[in-house]
Amino acid sequence: METKAYFPGPTKVRDNVRQARSLETMNPDMDPEFYEMYSLLGKDIGKIIGTDNQVLILSGEGILGLEAACASLTEPGDRVLVLENGIFGEGFADFVTIYGGIPVVLKFDRLRAMDTQLLQEYLERDHDFKYATLVHCDTPSGVLNPLSDICPMLKRYGILSVVDAVASSGGEPVDADRNMLDICLGASQKAFSAPVGLTFASVSEAAFKSMESRKVPIASYYMNLLSFKDSIANQWFPYSMPASDILGLRRAVDNILDEGIYEFQERHRRIANAVRNAIREYGLSLHLENGYSNTVTVVEMPHSIDVDVFLKRLKKEKGLLLSGSIGYLKNKVIRIGHMGENANMTELLFVFEAMDSIIERMGYKSTEKLKELFMKHMA
Ligand SMILES: *Cc1c(COP(=O)(O)O)cnc(C)c1O
Repeated sequence: METKAYFPGPTKVRDNVRQARSLETMNPDMDPEFYEMYSLLGKDIGKIIGTDNQVLILSGEGILGLEAACASLTEPGDRVLVLENGIFGEGFADFVTIYGGIPVVLKFDRLRAMDTQLLQEYLERDHDFKYATLVHCDTPSGVLNPLSDICPMLKRYGILSVVDAVASSGGEPVDADRNMLDICLGASQKAFSAPVGLTFASVSEAAFKSMESRKVPIASYYMNLLSFKDSIANQWFPYSMPASDILGLRRAVDNILDEGIYEFQERHRRIANAVRNAIREYGLSLHLENGYSNTVTVVEMPHSIDVDVFLKRLKKEKGLLLSGSIGYLKNKVIRIGHMGENANMTELLFVFEAMDSIIERMGYKSTEKLKELFMKHMA
């Protein structure tokens, strides 16, 4: 049986993106046209995440960007505010530590979007930080945090912001400039729907300045964002760029621009709303109390259904690969990814039809069908 996966990344890749990756490439070191293409692609990604800042595209999966931001900003002894209400948020503390910084972790309720009142009170007491890290959509729980409140608040206290927007960018408005983000991180394999392999990072002037005024040099070659700053002007990259990956991302970005950024995000809103309404009406619970991201929905299964068995049966009997979660949510919830190419009516109908069938076979009784509820809410 053919298997279809609805993960919160990596997502389905459209044919034209796969074909673009097989085209003959320019020489990424020597050909001025490659630099032009790279620069324009950065600008177009900037349009999607709402920034005029320089957008660097790096060869490596999403995690590379998170570590590169911390490597480039952190000097030994720097205090860094780690805001967290999820597993990716918490993980930033490790990157800060690796580069000699002192992470100060501020924990928020993991079932809700970050409480900005609480952050305000905290910053009033202590704001001696070079930068703060946070995650826009923390994928294991699907919680979406309010960048428009948090990042301008950090800025008022003179704190730079590093935002992991890997799971949100494209599908949710990030508005990096309006929300005053200093470093905004994304990756190819989530809502952009290109294969795994590229990170992008928008970097503000203030963030570049902070890197330039370091007393201790950046303790990495590969993760040094500053070395990309003048790469277009100097026609020199610190290492050869993966030209085929970049051609693929170029096509994937064009797919979004051709659809229209607003329309693309509107499609995510409609699908996500219908998914949440269908789940609720069916009698299952959403994991979160608020702060739902339009890119992923995290669902609590009834106690009578073992999550692990449920997921295995979906795969074996229906060819549907859904994801459980990780860490403290392992075996507790299932995640339906509706990002990019997966955020479509036909895709979700397939998901819900398979879920209906296996839920029934596992003895859970409901008078409703997820598939029909979803269709009703899409109408
Ligand atoms: C996917 C993702 C990343 C990249 O890491 P993976 O190894 O692909 O999981 C980083 N941050 C978030 C929030 C993500 O969802």
